[in-house]
Formats: sequence, C-alpha cells, structure tokens
Amino acid sequence: MRINERVVKLNDKPINTNARYVLYWMQMFKRVSHNHALIWAIRKANELKLPLVVYEGLKYYYPWASDRLHTFILEGVEEKREAFDKMGIRYVFYLQKDKKSPKNTVAQLAKDAALIVTDDFPCFIIPGHNRRISERAEIPVHAVDSNGIIPMSKFDKEEYAAYTIRPKIKKLLDNYLKPLPEEKIEKESPRLKVDCPETKVTAENIAKLVAECDIDHSVKPSGHYHGGTANGRKRLKKFVKDILPDYETARNKPDRDGSSRLSSYLHFGFLSPLEVALAVKDSDAPEASKDAYLEELIVRRELSYNLTLHNEKYDSLEALPAWVQKTMREHAKDERPFVYSLEELEAGETHDELWNACQREMVETGEMHNYVRMLWGKNVIAWSRTYEEAFEALVHLNNKYCLDGRNPNSYTGILWCFGKHDRPWMERPVFGQMRYMTSGSTGKKFDSKKYIEWTSGL
Ligand SMILES: Cc1cc2nc3c(=O)[nH]c(=O)nc-3n(C[C@H](O)[C@H](O)[C@H](O)COP(=O)(O)OP(=O)(O)OC[C@H]3O[C@@H](n4cnc5c(N)ncnc54)[C@H](O)[C@@H]3O)c2cc1C
Repeated sequence: MRINERVVKLNDKPINTNARYVLYWMQMFKRVSHNHALIWAIRKANELKLPLVVYEGLKYYYPWASDRLHTFILEGVEEKREAFDKMGIRYVFYLQKDKKSPKNTVAQLAKDAALIVTDDFPCFIIPGHNRRISERAEIPVHAVDSNGIIPMSKFDKEEYAAYTIRPKIKKLLDNYLKPLPEEKIEKESPRLKVDCPETKVTAENIAKLVAECDIDHSVKPSGHYHGGTANGRKRLKKFVKDILPDYETARNKPDRDGSSRLSSYLHFGFLSPLEVALAVKDSDAPEASKDAYLEELIVRRELSYNLTLHNEKYDSLEALPAWVQKTMREHAKDERPFVYSLEELEAGETHDELWNACQREMVETGEMHNYVRMLWGKNVIAWSRTYEEAFEALVHLNNKYCLDGRNPNSYTGILWCFGKHDRPWMERPVFGQMRYMTSGSTGKKFDSKKYIEWTSGL
C-alpha cells in the first residue's frame, strides 16, 4: 500500500505497542544526510515517542562478495557510527563472516521494534530482502525510495527511452531539486542495549576483518577509490571546482581526469544524487557543462532505475524491445571473426589493445571510464558465440569488478549495448541493427595510446 510518493507499506501487520524502538534497516542508502528513508524513520520514531535504532549488516554470501566490495563498504562504517552518536541515534553494524556466524539479525532486532523502515532499491538482492522481511516480521515494514531526485513513483510505467522520460523530469524537477529539510530525533539513545551481535570497525582493522570473511579474496580492494561519505565529498568538491567547468568536452576523454568518478559513491548511497546535483547547480561552471552533467546524473540515471523497477526481466535479453529481438534472431548465426571465452576476456587477453586496457582499468581500479564502457560492451557482443553468452559475460565481469556494479545503471548500461533505449541503425553482420562501435574509430576520438600506457602501469 502506498503511503506517499516515496513510501510504500509492504505488509499489513499491526505496530508493536510494547516496542523499545523504531528500526531502520539501512541497506543501500548508507548515509546520515539527504536520506529520505532515515528522515522517515526519525519521523516515525518521534511520532511513537521512541528511540531509533539503525541497523546495517554485511553478509558473506551475496553474489560477487569480495575483498574489494567489502572494503569499500567497511570504509564507510566508522564515520557513520560517529555521526549517529552525535545525532543521538543507536547505530548497529554487524559483519556476518561465514556460515558459523549468527544470522537472522534483522528478524531478531524486529522483535523489540514498533515498525521497520528500510530502503526501496529496485534491483539485485534488495527487492528479495524486502519481500522476505515483510512476510517474516510481525510488524509493519515501510520501504522508502531515496534513490533519485524525483521519486520513482512519479513514472508509473516503463519509459521507452531518454526522450520519453526527459520532458517528464523537466516538468517535475524544480519541485525536487532543492535542499531537503533534515529531522532530529527527540528520544536520544545512542547507547541503547539491543539484542544483536555487533562488529567494531576501525580504519586499522578493516583488512583483518575482510580476510576473515568467506568471500572472494581474489578481487583486491581498490587502491584508487575509498568508501564512505567523507571520501565521496572530497571527490565531489574536487570535481565541482576543477573538473566540472570542462566536463562537456573532457568527459569523453578516458586519458584525462574529466568526469566525476562518483558512481561508486552513488551506488552504495554514500552520496545522495540530490547533494551532488545541488553542488553542481550552485557552482560557477558554464551552463553547458552543468546541463551535460545533470543530463547524466538525472535523466540517464533515473531512466535506469525506472527500467529495473518496471521491467522484471532487467537481468536478461528479454528486456530488449521488439526490433532488437528481431535483429538478434536474424543475425544469430552470423560468423563471429573472433570468439573469446569468459576466462580470456577476464584476463584481458584479446587481439584488441584498447579493449584489454579497459578490462585492465576495471580489474585493477574497480571502475571503467564512461566513454570506453560502451566500447567494452559492444566488443563483447562481437566476440561471443551467442548474444546470451555476451550478456552473461558482461553482467558477470561488470558486477564482479566494478564498485558501482549490481546497480540499475549496470543492467541498463549493458542492455544499452544491445539497443535498449536506443534506435535501429544501419544493418551490419553480428550487430544487425544495433549501434556499432569499433576500437579503431573510438580510439581516434581521444589519446588512446596514453590511456593504454596508463592502464599498463596499474
Ligand atoms: C556496458 C556498461 C556498463 C555500465 N555499468 C555501470 C555500472 O555498473 N554502474 C554505474 O553506475 N553505471 C554504469 N554504466 C553507466 C556509466 O558508464 C557510468 O555511470 C559512468 O561511467 C560513471 O562514471 P562517472 O561517475 O565518472 O560518470 P559521469 O560522467 O560523471 O556522470 C555522472 C553520473 O551520472 C550517472 N550516469 C552517467 N552515465 C550514465 C549512463 N549511461 N546511464 C545511467 N547513469 C549514468 C552516474 O551515476 C554517474 O556517476 C555502464 C554503462 C555501460 C555502457
């Protein structure tokens, strides 16, 4: 049942009138400000005259769990503990290391809670989490959308492309692109006793904690990107001051530091898109650069969230429109001049130096530059036996290595390589009517030699 444009009640259970607190299960919006879910949870706690407990758990068995993803998340824990302490809110962080560790912690905390507030995120494991907790808990569960600048509910069906969502966003934007009033908890209780295991995380013990988890240790922590809101804000400040003024031209130059590189902070919710958009809007950068950036951050990003929310097939080629399905059928048997296995792709061992460099950037740093990401995806289509194999390889590699993977933008970006949100182009072998890109022509649009050299040194 919808409570308002950002809040949905996921079950029909009564409030626990003997409760000791309201519980906010923080899953994706890992921040203390510009967070609609936290604001809603504080409001509910104040209405019920109860303290607020914020629970954040990190389990060992989610898909692609690795040293890289765990480290990035853990780097944001200590700062949250300090911030919540100051706000008078009890923050519980628990790292479930392996199958011997205690489990069902949310259900356990729910026993003393009046109601649960949680994050409404439209893909990966979160919709399943929310479904299960709303069935299992004996109290109301409210899921709150703090994903984008405009609530997802404002677009009530799947949009066809950027040109269909853009005018709708334009109409609504002034109502939403403004500072968000924060709430203050009335019943402060930062030391409240709770029945739940807890993990103390400090900058010094992160590596040890990660080593103790039953996760993929072969994907190493990023030396380039460090998690947490403070690190995200540091990058945001640098971006707005030094990079944004030239964003309109520099963003398509992978050999330069010309884009925001904020997608990982946005994915884990360390930064809110609203905070980022307001910083950009209020800057002195040229209007053309601001507009170009806000087109990516708002139109493209919210289009991705719209796709995963409304199309339950987002993790497959079934999400593609009819013209792509037709062209894939017609070209399924075309001869592929090169075919690489997943292992060869993963190791960056193809005949194409630029593609190998993109792969290396992703494997070594945890991100791949926006401009070459498209080329990276297109080439895997050309070099796979089937379209299905190409899709699976792209999803696997993107989600395994990219800090910003497992996001609506991940699935949408990959589907875009197959023609989603695009239009038919001139017919060619293998691609059919899908837009075609080659390393030869893309590599001429920037200093690809410099980019390849840089990745070789990583
Ligand atoms: C094959 C492929 C895979 C992709 N996988 C991911 C992914 O796993 N995670 C991810 O966040 N993005 C993904 N994208 C979209 C885009 O490439 C990244 O968002 C971008 O590279 C992030 O870099 P940036 O923060 O410097 O972007 P900027 O140029 O600074 O853009 C600002 C913000 O706008 C959003 N944005 C930019 N481009 C897009 C886009 N095409 N679609 C939706 N939102 C966009 C991002 O949130 C980004 O941080 C993928 C694109 C492709 C083609």
